[in-house]
Order: sequence, then C-alpha cells, then structure tokens
Amino acid sequence: MSKQTFVIVGASLAGAKAAQELREHGFDGRVVLIGAETERPYERPPLTKDYLRGESEREKAYVHAPDYYGQHDIELMTDTTVTAIDPGASRVTLDDGSELSYDRLLLTTGSEPRRITAPGSELDGIYYMRSLADCDALRRRLDDSGRVAVVGAGWIGSEFAASARLLGLEVTVIDPLALPNERIFGAEIGGFYRDVHVRHGVEMLLGQGVEAFEGDGAVARVRTSAGKVVECDFAVVGIGIAPRTGLAADAGLAVNDGIVTNARLETSAPGVFAAGDVASAWHPFYDQQLRVEHWANALNQGPAAARAMLGEDVSYERIPYFFSDQYEVGMEYSGYATSWDQVVFRGERDGGEFVAFWLSDGRVVGGMNVNVWDVNQHVQELIRSRRAVDVAALTDPDTPLDGLVSETTA
Ligand SMILES: Cc1cc2nc3c(=O)[nH]c(=O)nc-3n(C[C@H](O)[C@H](O)[C@H](O)COP(=O)(O)OP(=O)(O)OC[C@H]3O[C@@H](n4cnc5c(N)ncnc54)[C@H](O)[C@@H]3O)c2cc1C
Repeated sequence: MSKQTFVIVGASLAGAKAAQELREHGFDGRVVLIGAETERPYERPPLTKDYLRGESEREKAYVHAPDYYGQHDIELMTDTTVTAIDPGASRVTLDDGSELSYDRLLLTTGSEPRRITAPGSELDGIYYMRSLADCDALRRRLDDSGRVAVVGAGWIGSEFAASARLLGLEVTVIDPLALPNERIFGAEIGGFYRDVHVRHGVEMLLGQGVEAFEGDGAVARVRTSAGKVVECDFAVVGIGIAPRTGLAADAGLAVNDGIVTNARLETSAPGVFAAGDVASAWHPFYDQQLRVEHWANALNQGPAAARAMLGEDVSYERIPYFFSDQYEVGMEYSGYATSWDQVVFRGERDGGEFVAFWLSDGRVVGGMNVNVWDVNQHVQELIRSRRAVDVAALTDPDTPLDGLVSETTA
C-alpha cells in the first residue's frame, strides 16, 4: 500500500506543532506543511514584547530550528498559499495552480487583524500587528521614537503600548470601552490595567473611539469621537482579529465564527480537521462551540488534531489559558467566563501581586494570577471541579490553593 499524505494548511504554531506530533506518533507517510508567509513557523507573542523591543534574537521566535523540518522529513512549503480545497476529491490547489491530493487535511489558517474603517484609515503610517514583517516595520518606527497613537486597549494594543513606553515613546491609547478589556474581565481588572498604563505615563483616552485619522499622505493626528485630537508620528491599530475561514467556507465546510469542528477537531467534511485560532471546536466541558485565540490553544490543539488524524481517540477539553506581559506586570488567565456575580481577590489588587477569581453561584469560572506564579494549575482544577468554594479560604493567601481544590473535589 502506498504511503498516506497528510497536508497541513497554515505553517504557524498550530500547524508546525501538528506536523511534529505526526512524526512523534510514528506517522511515516508524507507530511506537507504549507504556509503563505516567507518565514518558517514562528510564535507571535514575542512580537509585542521582547522581540519588538530588541531584547531577544529573532531566532528565539521560531517554533523549530531551521533544519528540523528536513531532519523529520516534513515538506515545509513557505511562501505558498492554498487557494482552494476540494473535500470531495481530497485535493488542495496551490497558488501556482498545482494540486496536491491528501488522505487527511488539517486547516490551521489562524486569524488576521480586523481593519479599521474610520475616515483616513488608508493613510500611511497606520500599522497592524500580526506577523514578523509587521513587527519588523514597527521596530523601525520605534527606533525613531516620537509619539504613537494606539487604537484599541485589548491585549495587542496594550502590550504594544507598554513596549513603546518602555522604549521611551509618548503613547496615547484610544478605546471606546470605559476600561481595557472591560467586556471580558469587568471593571476591577479593567481598572487595574488602566492604572498600570497611567502609572507608566500612557495617556488613556477611554470611552471614545476613532472619528478620523488625519494627515497629508501619512497620519499626523487622530480625532476621537469625544473631539480630542491626538498628534502622532504613527498609529497602531489593534481592534481584534477575525478567523481566516474563507478557504473552508468556499469548500462548503460548516463555518460559524471559525471552522466548526467536533471535540476530536474534525470538521463537517470527514478527514478534514481544524485547530488553533481558526477552529470553533466543540468543548465538552463548556458544552458549546468555543474558539480560542491564544497561544496555548494553538500549541495544544494542533497536536491533538494530529492525533485525531492518526485515528487516535481525541477529545480536546483543555481549560482556555493565556498570558500577557506589560511592563513589570506578568499575568496568566484561565477559564472562560461570560457571566459572573462576584470577583474576589487573593492578595491586594493595588499591590500588583494577586490572584483574581471570577465566581458564579460560588463556583470559580475564571482566575487570573498577576505576578504570582505556579498557581495556574490549581486555578484550572478549581474551575474543573465545578464545586462551590469557601470565599474566605479562597481569598486568604495563607490557605494553599491546592488544599482548596481537594476540599472542593472531595
Ligand atoms: C503580536 C501578537 C502577540 C500575541 N501574544 C500572545 C500572548 O502574549 N499570549 C497568548 O496567549 N497569545 C498571544 N497571541 C495569540 C497567539 O499568537 C495566536 O493564538 C497564535 O498565533 C495562533 O496560532 P495559529 O497557528 O492558530 O494561527 P496563526 O498564528 O494565525 O497562523 C496561521 C498561519 O496560516 C497561514 N495561512 C492562512 N491561510 C493560508 C492559506 N490559504 N495557505 C497557506 N497558509 C495560510 C498564515 O499566513 C499564518 O502564517 C499573540 C498574537 C499576536 C499577533
């Protein structure tokens, strides 16, 4: 019998980790990893942090060493875009018109920045941050110092603002919400992050959107909906991302805010899988489709999809997790909380070292540790336990969290 061909579309974290998993699980057929970017797979978190600030080598951002793919017989095709999928014929079409047949297909096409449509948004000097190329362009702008307007106080905007400030630029952040990430975390944590930026000298223009970008050819100022005029040398826009679902939708796969998969990450087309930012996967713990736009999800879901492609019994049900670093503030968040009735703190919020818990009916539905480490796993266990916790013990820094977990699960 001739060997099978497994094709992976999207050569970033999820795709590269899936290819690695196929080999580590003994798959000896063809593995073809196709990516539109000219770079070999790399990780994006450094692009708003150490790499952006020139504190880490480019090499550190890559998922694997340059010779990894050759050594493991993974056919990495960079600078190549898949333009169509034919699930009936089990074939993909590449941008040079050639076709490639597959036995299993994995879609890890990720996501792309949402574009702002305000007047003047086509001016030069307005940047988005997704790729190494975007980051390199912004590094050059940061070298020139000056003033930057950051549109969007989500994670990308906030981390960029922090890095720019650390490099000495004058930074203004503009966001229509009253507080950073208020919709996801509520006022307590939103207020904490606003204060962190203000303390570092960032001008936070909250509760106002962009009315227009203005300038002669290149952006020179941003006019906000509150009538404020922000003079700037350039602007960075981080207003969220959209999953790259076009290829899947054109092929007739079920798409609904992401490529719809079951818990084993298989799409509506048998033999076609999806993972990472682009996948809206059935999450057995939450009993709903969930699309997670974070590093750890790409890291873990790519390999899980690879195991499913190999016919292993897979049910992807990790608790969503992500991290962010801004100035001296490092944090990890676990959970998926759309509603809660209380946010409680273990440690002083204003002291900058704490664990915040989001509670619903006395149960932990989300937890964020800020400058407190090695607790994340316990937070996840508390969430998984689905048991009501004793709030006094939860908020008492002297009561070990792992003890609490065994009490709740007893
Ligand atoms: C600047 C930045 C900082 C971040 N920081 C953090 C952080 O601190 N913490 C955290 O948890 N998460 C962070 N993230 C999010 C994290 O990086 C993403 O969740 C992760 O990159 C998703 O990986 P992915 O492989 O699913 O998709 P992506 O990284 O989006 O990669 C998809 C790849 O598929 C390629 N592709 C798409 N369509 C095609 C096609 N038709 N043919 C060929 N190739 C195609 C794209 O070119 C791209 O290379 C950050 C993201 C960015 C942009």
